[in-house]
Amino acid sequence: MVEQITIRKPDGGKYKALVVDDSAFTLKQITQILMSADIEVVGNAPNGETAIRMYKELYPNVDFVTLDITMPDVDGLHVLKEIMSFDPNAKVIMVTALGREDIVKTAIMNGAKGFILKPLDRLKVLERIKAILGA
Ligand SMILES: [Mg+2]
Repeated sequence: MVEQITIRKPDGGKYKALVVDDSAFTLKQITQILMSADIEVVGNAPNGETAIRMYKELYPNVDFVTLDITMPDVDGLHVLKEIMSFDPNAKVIMVTALGREDIVKTAIMNGAKGFILKPLDRLKVLERIKAILGA
C-alpha cells in the first residue's frame, strides 16, 4: 500500500519543481516521487548547463529545485552558485549519495536549503522536502 502524502503551499497551491540529474533513471524517479505528492514538475534538466538556462526561463514560476551534485561538465555546486546569484531567494535541495558530507556542507554554505540522499526512499524524500519547504 502506498501512503498518500500531499505537499501543498500554505495557500493550497501546487509547488512547482525543477528536477536536475544527469541520470535519466534518477530524473524519472524524483519526478515520479514529487508528482505522487501533487507537486508539479515544470522542468527536467539532464545537465548543469540546461539546469541554469531552465531556471532562468521558468523564473518566477518555479518554487524549488532538486539538484544532483555529481554531474559531468557543469556540476551541482556550480549550478547552485549560478542559480543563487540569479535568484538569492531560490530554494535549492541537493541530491547526493552518502559520504559526500564535505560537498553538502559547501553547498549549504552557498545557499542550498538542504539535501536528500540516494538511494531515494519515497517517504523519506517527501518528508525531507516537506520540512525544507516548511509545508
Ligand atoms: Mg549524477
